[in-house]
Amino acid sequence: MSSNQNNNVRGRMSSIRHRLAGQRVRMKMGMHFFQSIFLIVVMLAVWLAAREYMADVAVPFFERSRSLTLASPIKKVDSFYDFVNVVRTLRYTVTSKAGTVILQEMIIAPVALIVAFSSGLLALQLLGDLISYSHELRRVKRLLAPIDELAAQAEAISRIELSEEKYHLIEEKITSLEPTEEAKLSFGDEDLMGVERAMNSLLTRIRESNRQQARFVNDASHELRTPIAVIEGYANMLARWGREDEKVLDESITAIQNESAHMKHLVEQLLFLARGDAGRTVLNPVRVDLCEMMQTVYEESLMIDEGHIYKYSCPVEPVYVLADEGLLKQSVRILVDNAAKYTKPKDEILLSVGYAGYNEVYVQVQDTGIGMKESDVEHMFERFYRSDEARSFGGTGLGLSIAKWIVDKHDGHFEITSREELGTRIKIVLKKDSNP
Ligand code: ATP
Ligand code: MG
Repeated sequence: MSSNQNNNVRGRMSSIRHRLAGQRVRMKMGMHFFQSIFLIVVMLAVWLAAREYMADVAVPFFERSRSLTLASPIKKVDSFYDFVNVVRTLRYTVTSKAGTVILQEMIIAPVALIVAFSSGLLALQLLGDLISYSHELRRVKRLLAPIDELAAQAEAISRIELSEEKYHLIEEKITSLEPTEEAKLSFGDEDLMGVERAMNSLLTRIRESNRQQARFVNDASHELRTPIAVIEGYANMLARWGREDEKVLDESITAIQNESAHMKHLVEQLLFLARGDAGRTVLNPVRVDLCEMMQTVYEESLMIDEGHIYKYSCPVEPVYVLADEGLLKQSVRILVDNAAKYTKPKDEILLSVGYAGYNEVYVQVQDTGIGMKESDVEHMFERFYRSDEARSFGGTGLGLSIAKWIVDKHDGHFEITSREELGTRIKIVLKKDSNP
């Protein structure tokens, strides 16, 4: 920040203080003005009532009639002089019902007295208000002291100028930093503490991201090693005995087919996640009718899996979201696949769509399968995570990671309820598309 900018900041703070103090004074003046008007009205009313009451107590107060009259009628009011004449000859007359005049009062003199008295009072108050400006300014200054202090500190920080020497120091330290896990930048200079902290935090984040990548590659190779080893084993068996032994031949072909299908599934999942991480999966959002989409998934499930009883429910009116239909359907399919895999044959799987709160909607898959422990629910979206109970079923542990990636990209979230041996209910909650 240059000294010009610093002067600007100081100038702005001072103008804010003056504005606030001026506002307070104007507020007080306005309040006093309206107080005086109110006082005049009340004083006039009390004075008139008292005069009239005391004029003739024999005639009840409420049985009198009142009128405003002019002492000498004036035909037209052409000039200010005429107007003053009208006001001067204005009379307030009170008569009894019987017609006797009780009070005939030229009200202008006492009214003028009351107004003059109140105006004098008001003028004094307004003068006091104006004088109080400097006091208000001091008050505002006291109140804004912490902000002033902050501004001063910001100014002090901005005055630290990075000399060429310091630039060299930064350059040298960064160049000589070893690419090890623990290496940290240390400039040993008070002025560069902020830069040092920011760079070290960036290094930590980069390392964490690298660690995650490495863990992913490690897990992926580990998962691929098993099917490759199985295929290799059966291929060797085929080479040795397969030509003569038909049983070995059949068994090997089936095993190789299963393992290569598993490997293909795994590689496809890995590719999806790698493409997603690299930002190469482009979403193509369109208006999707969730009921229509869920019904397609339901009909497909009936065809693919005859082992379970599928049910489907949807509200009467259509439920719309803005989404990439292909990807959203893929995430629902992942939930249905899990429900089918972890539920005994002949048991029910319920697919449904509904409204969740004010502007949210959901798609839900509910099963009556093996369910999960709370500790499994906490980890179920992690890549390659599989509960102990799920390991006896085939799978890679990547399905839900993919579903989560898709739902995150749609700014949605999951809601999970699961009880061991009772079943699991997973909801994908999305923002409703309320466009007509
Ligand atoms: P795949 O990647 O082939 O789908 P997977 O089903 O094991 O393998 P995910 O779909 O990611 O992997 O599920 C992760 C884990 O969450 C499962 O291994 C299982 O332990 C648990 N899980 C998910 N859905 C259910 C469910 N409906 N009932 C019980 N457990 C479930
Ligand atoms: Mg799965």
